[in-house]
Amino acid sequence: MSTAVPSGSNPPASAASDALSGGPHPLYPHLFAPLDLGFCTLPNRVLMGSMHTGLEDKAADFPKLAAYFAERAAGGVGLIVTGGFAPNIVGWLKPFGGKLSWPWEAGKHKQVTRAVHEHGGRICMQILHAGRYGYHPLQVAPSKLKAPINPFTPRALSAGGVERQIKAFVNSARLAREAGYDGVEVMGSEGYLLNQFTVPRTNKRKDGWGGEAPQRFRFNVEIVRRIREACGPDFIIVYRLSMIDLVDEGSTWSEVIAQARAIEAAGATLINTGIGWHEARVPTIATSVPRGAFTGITARLKPEVRIPLVTTNRINMPDVAERILAFGEADMVSMARPLLADADWVNKARRQRAADINTCIGCNQACLDHVFANKHASCLVNPRACAETELNYLPTKAPKRVAVVGAGPAGLACATVAAERGHRVTLFDSAERIGGQFNLAKRIPGKEEFYETLRYFAGRIEQTGIDLRLNTTADAAALADFDEIVLASGIKPRQVAFPGSDHAKVCSYLDVLQGRVVPGKRVAIIGAGGIGFDVAEFLVHDGPHSDEQPHHPDPARWRAEWGVDLDYGDNRGGLSEPRPEPPARQVWLLQRSPGKPGAKLGKTTGWIHRATLKAKQVRMIGGVEYLGLDEEGFRIRVEGNEQVLPVDQVVICAGQEPYKPLAAALADSGKPVHVIGGADVAAELDAKRAIAQGSRLAASL
Ligand code: FAD
Ligand code: NAP
Ligand code: SF4
Repeated sequence: MSTAVPSGSNPPASAASDALSGGPHPLYPHLFAPLDLGFCTLPNRVLMGSMHTGLEDKAADFPKLAAYFAERAAGGVGLIVTGGFAPNIVGWLKPFGGKLSWPWEAGKHKQVTRAVHEHGGRICMQILHAGRYGYHPLQVAPSKLKAPINPFTPRALSAGGVERQIKAFVNSARLAREAGYDGVEVMGSEGYLLNQFTVPRTNKRKDGWGGEAPQRFRFNVEIVRRIREACGPDFIIVYRLSMIDLVDEGSTWSEVIAQARAIEAAGATLINTGIGWHEARVPTIATSVPRGAFTGITARLKPEVRIPLVTTNRINMPDVAERILAFGEADMVSMARPLLADADWVNKARRQRAADINTCIGCNQACLDHVFANKHASCLVNPRACAETELNYLPTKAPKRVAVVGAGPAGLACATVAAERGHRVTLFDSAERIGGQFNLAKRIPGKEEFYETLRYFAGRIEQTGIDLRLNTTADAAALADFDEIVLASGIKPRQVAFPGSDHAKVCSYLDVLQGRVVPGKRVAIIGAGGIGFDVAEFLVHDGPHSDEQPHHPDPARWRAEWGVDLDYGDNRGGLSEPRPEPPARQVWLLQRSPGKPGAKLGKTTGWIHRATLKAKQVRMIGGVEYLGLDEEGFRIRVEGNEQVLPVDQVVICAGQEPYKPLAAALADSGKPVHVIGGADVAAELDAKRAIAQGSRLAASL
C-alpha cells in the first residue's frame, strides 16, 4: 500500500526531511525507486511523455526546444521523450514537419541532447510515422483507406515501400544516436502507421504484411529488431504499444499480448502504453477523464512480459503516480502535459512539496489546441512553457509597491509573479476567497481539476508574502499609496432583454452556479458559449458540490458511461455499449446564430462537450429567436416555426462585459494603471489569456 499523502497537501515541516540522501523516499518510495535498464539506471519512475510542441518543425526553434527540455531535465525527470520526428517525408505529420532522415538534420538535435545531458537528464527521440494521419498528399498506409479525420487518401504501400519505411526508421534511429540521444521511442499507437499495420480496420493486405495478427504486426517487430541490431545493446528502445485501440476492428486482447511479447523479443527496453486512436469516439486525456482511468490496461499486460511497462493518461499528481506504482500496475508513469505545467514537478515531489506543484488541469487549451492550430504549444497555468528563452521572472532591481485589484486568474498570476520578482504586492478581492470565476468553473462536473489551480495560487500567495485582503472592495482612496496599480476586476454578465425577462423564472448563470437558484426539472439556457455548455453540464448532473473539496469522478462509472471495456477479450478495440446515466433535468441549450452550438469550443475538447450533452439528451438548437416567457413557457422561433418550451427556469449565459468601476476614478491620478483580464477585454476571454496577460505584465514591472 502507498503511504502517499493526497494531492494538494504538503506534509508537516517536521516530516519533510529531504529524501535526497539514500534509502527509500518517505512519501513516494515507488516513484523514487531507481529503475535498472541493464546498461543504465534511471533515477526515478517518471517518463516525460512525447508531446508535439511545434518547436520541432523549424531549425530556428531548436534553441527554444533545448531550453524547454533543459528545464525539465533540471527538474529531475527520469527520462524524456521528444515530440514525434518523422523518419522520412511520406511519414510527415504535416508538410515540412519535424523529421530526421539526413545527417545534416542531426546537427540541430545536438543542441537538445547537449542541454539535457548538461542538466543531468536522459532523452529519447520519438520516431513517428503518421501514415494515413499525415496532413499532406504524400501519405502512405498499409491499405488505401482514408481516415475519417483527414481529407487526404493514402497511397497503399507496395512490398518495396514497406521495406523502405523499415529502413527509414532504422536510419532515423541511427542518426538519433549520432545526435546524442540516449535512445528512441518507436510510436506504435494512437492510430499512426504502425498501429495501422496492426489492426484489420486499416490493414487489408494479402501479402506477408497483412492477414493474421503476427503478419499484421510483423512490420512493427521488424522495425524494433533492426533498430536494436543497428544501434547496439546500450541504446534505449521504448515501444509505444496500443493497448486498447478504442475503435471498431482494433486489436483483440490476445493480439495485444502477442504483439507485446514479440516486441520484447525483438529487443525493446521498455513498453509504453498507448490509449485510443485519434479517431476514437472516447476522450482519453481531457480534463473530464478521471485520473488514472486507463492504467488498469497496463496492469493487465504486466504479467505477460518481463521488460518494464510505462503507464499513462491523466496522471498529474505524485499521489496518483505512487498509488499506481505501489499497486504494481506499471513500472513507470508517463506524463507530458503535467511537465509543461510545472517543469519542477519531480523535484517538488522529491522534496515532499506536492502542494507546490502547478497542476495540469487537462484543459488542452494552450497545448494541444495550439498545436492543432499550427501554433507553438504553451500552458494555460504556466505561460513560460515553451517560452523559456523569452519570458523570465527575474528579480527586480527596483522594488515597488504594487496593488492588484481582483484575485481571479489574471490578478493571481500578476500578483504572484510580481511578488516573486521582489515587488511588495497587495492583492484585494471583494469576495471571501481567491479565484474569481474559477470558483464557478471548479463546480462544473468534469472540471474538478480547477481546484488545483486555486490551491497552487494560495500557496504562492503565502510563499511570496503577498498582503492578501479578502472581503475588501478596493476603491480609489485605498489605492492612493501604491506605485503601480493593476485592475483585474473581471467581468459582469451580459443582460438580455425579451418580453418576460423580468419574470421570477429568469436568472443568471451566477445564480445557478453560486447556489442561489436551484432550477426545476426543465430548463432553457440562453447562450451556447463555453459557459452555456458548462451550465448545461451542471444541470444534467445532480450535485454534490463543495467549495472546499473536489469530488473526483469514479473511473469505473466514467468508463461505463463512455463504453470503455478494459476487460475486453475478443471484442476488438475494447469498446462496449455506452451506458450514460439518465440526466437530472431536461435541458434546452439555445443560441441565436445558425448552425451547430459549440462550434467555437476548443478544437480538441469541443466534440467531447457536445457528445456529453447529447448523451444526456440535451436539445442543442441554433438559429433561435427569443419571443418571450409567459405562464405557458418560453416561446421561441426556429426556422420560422414557433414553439413553446415548458420550462421552470430560463438561465442567461449570454456572454460577458468588462467590469472596471475604478478605471475612471484612477484615470486622473497620474499613476500607472494597468487593466488586465476580463476587465480589459471580455470578448473571447479565457483563463489562458488572463493568466498570460497577468504574468507578462508582472514580468515587465
Ligand atoms: P475574474 O475571474 O472574473 O476575477 C475578477 C475578480 O475581481 C473577482 O474575484 C472579483 O471578486 C474581483 N473584484 C472585482 N472588483 C473588485 C474590486 N473593486 N475590489 C476587489 N476585488 C474586485 N476559462 C478557461 O480558460 N477555461 C475554462 O474551462 C473555463 N471555464 C469556465 C467555466 C465557468 C462556469 C466560468 C464562469 C468561467 C470559465 N472560464 C474558463 C473563464 C475564466 O474563468 C475567466 O476567463 C477568468 O476567470 C477571467 O479572469 P479575470 O481574472 O480576468 O476575472
Ligand atoms: P461566449 O462564449 O461569448 O458565448 C456567449 C453566448 O451568448 C453565445 O452563444 C452567444 O450566441 C450568446 N449571446 C451573446 N449575446 C447575446 C444576446 N445579446 N442575447 C442572447 N444571446 C447572446 O461567452 P461565455 O459562454 O459567457 O463564456 C465566456 C468566456 O469564458 C468565453 O470566452 C470562453 O472562452 C470562456 N470559457 C471557456 C470554457 C472552455 O471550456 N474553454 C468554458 C467556459 C467558459 P448567439 O449570439 O448566437 O446567441
Ligand atoms: Fe495541462 Fe491545460 Fe497546461 Fe495543457 S494547457 S499542459 S492541458 S494545464
